[in-house]
Amino acid sequence: MDTKVLLGEKQIPTHWYNVIPDLPGSLAPVLHPVTLKPVTPQDLAPLFPQPLVEQEVSTERWVPIPEPVREIYRLWRPTPLFRARRLEQALGTPARIYYKYEGVSPAGSHKPNSAVPQAYYNKLAGIRRLATETGAGQWGSSLALACRLFGLECTVYMVKVSFEQKPYRKSMMQLWGANVFASPSRETNAGRAALAADPASPGSLGLAISEAVEDAAAHDDTHYALGSVLNHVILHQTVVGLEAKEQLRATGDYPDVVIASHGGGSNFAGLTFPFLADRAAGKRVRLVACEPASCPTLTKGVYAFDYGDTAKMAPVVKMYTLGHDFMPPGIHAGGLRYHGASPLVSQLLAAGQIEARAFMQTPCFEAAVTFARTEGIVPAPESSHAIRGALEEAQRAKEEGRERVILFGLSGHGQLDMTAYDAYLSGRLEDFAYPEENIRASLARLPKVDF
Ligand SMILES: *Cc1c(COP(=O)(O)O)cnc(C)c1O
Repeated sequence: MDTKVLLGEKQIPTHWYNVIPDLPGSLAPVLHPVTLKPVTPQDLAPLFPQPLVEQEVSTERWVPIPEPVREIYRLWRPTPLFRARRLEQALGTPARIYYKYEGVSPAGSHKPNSAVPQAYYNKLAGIRRLATETGAGQWGSSLALACRLFGLECTVYMVKVSFEQKPYRKSMMQLWGANVFASPSRETNAGRAALAADPASPGSLGLAISEAVEDAAAHDDTHYALGSVLNHVILHQTVVGLEAKEQLRATGDYPDVVIASHGGGSNFAGLTFPFLADRAAGKRVRLVACEPASCPTLTKGVYAFDYGDTAKMAPVVKMYTLGHDFMPPGIHAGGLRYHGASPLVSQLLAAGQIEARAFMQTPCFEAAVTFARTEGIVPAPESSHAIRGALEEAQRAKEEGRERVILFGLSGHGQLDMTAYDAYLSGRLEDFAYPEENIRASLARLPKVDF
């Protein structure tokens, strides 16, 4: 059998898969952050163009991918599916391990899959500029690229700890023409307030979101773009899982378990949701989300209504949350430091349709190094959580002496994350225990709502 399964450009999906009609139960309402009443499309108009607002609540199972978006997808899609033979041999496992590799995109991760359609729909709506936040810089660079391709300006608020740890991602955004600020910044009221409270604040994704939302709301020609969490982002990312299903079909294998890392949920959902429909049809596939133990949203959070951002400007949604003002430690998987989770992923977790696991960063880097030394590719620290999850499944298959087919998402490469690998290889990587007190304190400040 071949080492990788490649599809032709004609096999780029023509439609995204929308999980909403297949959810167990109906969607919880999205609430206005001030009134705590359900938002109307008009409430969202200052932030998003009409087609994206419609995608948030669409009940169509298949949503056509606009041709100009597929045209840009052709620059790197379809992405390869690999059989990890060398990794299997090194582990001595009877499991067959496959991984879907999104690191071949220009930004080096899955994130352009949503950045491109978001820029496209905003361009159609006559918007001039997009404002956004970024953690590790993966989303910011993806949106910078997408804006460049559609002739839009791009402003990025980058979480300060990552701005300092990952200067090359900032350079990448600037290379594609974006304007980048370390968050908290002096550009917005939310940023200035955070700096007044703590001039040394490392920032958080929740706070950077507040800055970007404030910027977009204050300018008529500017919209906001979010790189994960929202239903339309999840929808766009399903190209990953749809391709992976097609590719696996060619191998004759079907996964027993599909594993992906989880920050806000779009990476996990993009790979796994196309397999959910098969569960309804009786397949026994397990779907496992892997997250950092220091930001354990799915495994230690509560399923409740909460604000999407620190300054309470973003809508209130029902999701697993650690509290909107939870400040996770500055771990290297910057893309997984979000206090909340996608409402769709949350609803499926609460209904027992998916599973979640949390890992410390040292075992994740250990798994990443094992992977790099066998398969060659240097994984993003975010992706290493999925590798850890896959290794544990492979180990279990070995102990039980059972064949098992494992598919995991290698969401990005780590070639701009060498500071993190340096820390690991020189023994300077710290593991952060789950900060139970901080979480309890944050959870005490959830909004009180009547839904
Ligand atoms: C952002 C990111 C993730 C997490 O994606 P979410 O959609 O926020 O869950 C995983 N891997 C890589 C490489 C990323 O850049």
